[in-house]
Amino acid sequence: MSKLIIITAPSGGGKTTIVNHLLSKFNNLSFSVSATTRKPRPGEEEGKAYYFLEWDEFDDLVKEKAFVEWELIYPGQRSGTLKKEVQRLWNENLNVLFDIEVKGAKNIKKMYPDALAIFIKPPTPAILFERLRNRKTEDEKSLRARIQRAKMELTYEHEFDKVLINDVLEVALQDAEQMVRDFLDADTTSSEKGE
Ligand code: ADP
Ligand code: 5GP
Repeated sequence: MSKLIIITAPSGGGKTTIVNHLLSKFNNLSFSVSATTRKPRPGEEEGKAYYFLEWDEFDDLVKEKAFVEWELIYPGQRSGTLKKEVQRLWNENLNVLFDIEVKGAKNIKKMYPDALAIFIKPPTPAILFERLRNRKTEDEKSLRARIQRAKMELTYEHEFDKVLINDVLEVALQDAEQMVRDFLDADTTSSEKGE
């Protein structure tokens, strides 16, 4: 029976970093690849980071009711979870890992109450903004939009099952691993890489 794990946080909170760590540690865990209208960042591969779509293609899928959920995250950027993506992972009997912003995370949790939803919390808003800036993936406009939205996203801390403080990275990665191991329970013993 597949289990669902939702990793949520403000932009720059550490979702991608933590998700990649979890995927490297648990081989019965599979990433739910979302669809998005934003352009790929350097190194982001089609079908791995996201399914990159034009605005009209995304629109058609909304009309076809192809999404479990979707959000307009920033002006010009819509992202969503495709029903067929979740179905595909379920059919393969894999546990599903979502990297999703707070509103979508709340929707998925409402739809699947048995899912584990983890909110990644930066030590302070100032550190969050500094990490986002230092990541150097955004232009000034996009950075401002992300910082603005992050203020709202930080208020969602108490809406989820667990809060994971992402201060010292090594500690946060260990904590994430422990939370997931506990949740997957007996399943994990045989699924951890290298064991
Ligand atoms: P998100 O996917 O939530 O937007 P990222 O995983 O891209 O966040 O992290 C944002 C930036 O902060 C990245 O450059 C990442 O390397 C860095 N980062 C994440 N966690 C830490 C940490 N604990 N200490 C320092 N830098 C971090
Ligand atoms: P980014 O542009 O940094 O990749 O993502 C911006 C935000 O969109 C992040 O908070 C990310 O978690 C979120 N996101 C990614 N995929 C989805 C999705 O399928 N649905 C929703 N609601 N948010 C998503």
